Amino acid sequence: MLSHARSVWPEEACGLIAGIDHIDDTDPDAKVEIREIRKVYLLENQDHTNVHFSLDPGEHLKAVVDMRKHHLKPLGNWHSHPETPSRSSAEDIRLASFDHTASYLILSLMDNEHPVLHSFHVENGVSTPEALEIISG
Ligand SMILES: [Zn+2]
Repeated sequence: MLSHARSVWPEEACGLIAGIDHIDDTDPDAKVEIREIRKVYLLENQDHTNVHFSLDPGEHLKAVVDMRKHHLKPLGNWHSHPETPSRSSAEDIRLASFDHTASYLILSLMDNEHPVLHSFHVENGVSTPEALEIISG
């Protein structure tokens, strides 16, 4: 994700994430919903700008076919912010509002040496951070 985002900088990079959802119920009083990202798809930003993105529909379809083949669930999408923080913009919230089951990852390259990746849940026009832990790669 990071090397792709750097390779298309200063344009926004984008793509899809896929994996599985499960519930950690080791503590029955505090069930935790866990979303495990197993695959990240790097797609072309059809807009080729540094301020917004649209996924290439052909590549999008190919990625969905690949997810089905590997029994992965579509979990959301990701894009980079070449020059701004890892925070949902008004435009990001507007675009995300049609699907509140998805996770929206934003990778900020504002500080080239310290890239920042956050995940967001967007519902009713409000973007809320989700806990994100990188365990490999
Ligand atoms: Zn954005």
